[in-house]
Amino acid sequence: MFENLSERLDSAIKQLKGEGRINEINIATTVKEIRRALVDADVNYKIAKEFTDKVKEKATGEKVITSVSPGQLMVKIVKDELAELMGGKEVELDFSTKPTIILIAGLQGSGKTTFSGKLANFLKNKKSLRPLLVAADIYRPAAMDQLQVLGEQVKVPVFAEPENKNAVSIVQNAIAHAKANGNNVIIIDTAGRLAVDEVMMREVADIKAAINPQEILFVVDSMTGQDAVNTAKAFNDRLDFTGVVLTKLDGDTRGGAALSIRYVVDKPIKFVSMGEKLDTLDVFYPERMAQRILGMGDITTLVERAQAQYDEVQAKKLEKKIRANKFDFEDFKEQLNQIKKMGNIKDLLAMIPGVGKAIKDIDISDDAFKGIEAMINSMTPEERSNPDIIDTSRRKRIAKGSGKDVNEVNAFMKQFEQMKQMMSQMNKFKGMGGPGMPGM
Ligand code: GDP
Repeated sequence: MFENLSERLDSAIKQLKGEGRINEINIATTVKEIRRALVDADVNYKIAKEFTDKVKEKATGEKVITSVSPGQLMVKIVKDELAELMGGKEVELDFSTKPTIILIAGLQGSGKTTFSGKLANFLKNKKSLRPLLVAADIYRPAAMDQLQVLGEQVKVPVFAEPENKNAVSIVQNAIAHAKANGNNVIIIDTAGRLAVDEVMMREVADIKAAINPQEILFVVDSMTGQDAVNTAKAFNDRLDFTGVVLTKLDGDTRGGAALSIRYVVDKPIKFVSMGEKLDTLDVFYPERMAQRILGMGDITTLVERAQAQYDEVQAKKLEKKIRANKFDFEDFKEQLNQIKKMGNIKDLLAMIPGVGKAIKDIDISDDAFKGIEAMINSMTPEERSNPDIIDTSRRKRIAKGSGKDVNEVNAFMKQFEQMKQMMSQMNKFKGMGGPGMPGM
C-alpha cells in the first residue's frame, strides 16, 4: 500500500540524516521533496502545498532538542500532519437511533456491495448487532444476487423484492420488515452508475428524504485517485453524506484519494476495505495510516486482526496438545487457516515496523501456503494426527498425491519436526517461569 509514496517520503526525510540541526536550507530541500512526493501520489497541488507549508512552519518553529535528530523530528512532524490531513481522530458510526439505518452510496464497481457484506459481518461480530441487508438496486438483478450470496456467506439476512421497481418503496418495506424481525441495523445497498448521473443521484436523494438514515456512507475506489475525490465532491454536494469508505487499498493505489478526500469534502473516512475477504474490514484510524505510510508499521491493527481470529476454546486445546508434545498436522493446518483469515499475507507482514520496505519487491501471494496445504491434504487422517507413522513409502505417496517431489515432502516433515521440538522447548522454558510461547 502506498509503496511509492512511502519510499519517496523516506528518501526526502533521509536527506536530513547526518545534519546536526534543522535549518532553513535543509528544511527547504526536504519540504520540496515531500511536496513532489505528494503530488506524484496524486494529491492535489494545493493540498500538497498547504501540507508542506505547515510542515515547514512546524519544523522551523521547533526548538532544537538535542536528543532528537532532525530526521526523527521530521518524521514526527510529517506523521502528525499526515494524520491530521486524514482527519486526526477516528470517527465511529452513529448508533444512537435504533434501528440504525445505514445508506450505502457510490459508483458502480466501487465496491459497495462487497462493503455492505463486510459491514454486516463487522457489525454482527464486533458490535453484536442484528443487521439486515437490503438490496435496493432495481436495475441490475445481478447486484441483488450478489448481495444474497454475500448475505449467506456472512450469515446475515437479505431483504429483496425483485418484482418491485421502486427503490423507495423497497427500502420502506425493508424497514418495516426489520422492525418486525428485530433487526437493529439496516444496511441499504443502492444502485450505482458508471459515472455521476442525475437519475442515480435523484434516486439516492429520494431514498434519503424518505427514510432519513443516520449514516450515509459514500464508497469510493481508492485506485481512481483524483477522480475519486471529484466523485466524492459530487456525491457530497447532493447527499451531504456522513462518512467515506475507501476500498481497494490492497491494490496498487498511489494514495491520493486517501490523503485528499477528507480535506475536500470535510467528512471523515470511517472504514478502509482491503481485499475481497469478508472479514477484513478495518475502522479507519488516521494516525495508524500515517504510521504505515511512513514505514513505521501498524502493530495495533496486526494485534487486533489476530485477536479477531482468536478462539479461546481452540487456543486452550492447542496449548494442551503442545504441552503433551502432540501438535500434529491437523493443528498445523488449522493454524494456517487462522493466519489466512487475518488477511493478505504481504499486507500483514507490512504491519510489522520496517518489514514493509524490506519485502516490497518480493512477491508473496496468498497461495504461499498452497504447497504445504496440498501435502497435508494428501495425508490420511491417521497420518495427520500421528505424524510418526509417516515412513518412506507413505512419503512417496504423499508426494505423488500433492504433485510434489519426495525431497520436498522430506524437507517439510523435517521442518515440522523442528517446529515441534522448538515448541516443546518453549514449554519447558515456560515451566521454569520464562515467557513461554506467545499465543499463535
Ligand atoms: P459495486 O458495484 O459498487 O457494488 O461493487 P462490487 O462490490 O461488486 O465490487 C466491484 C469489484 O471490486 C468486485 O470484483 C469486488 O470483488 C472488487 N472489490 C470490492 N472491494 C474490494 C477491495 O477492497 N479490494 C479489492 N482488491 N477488490 C475489491
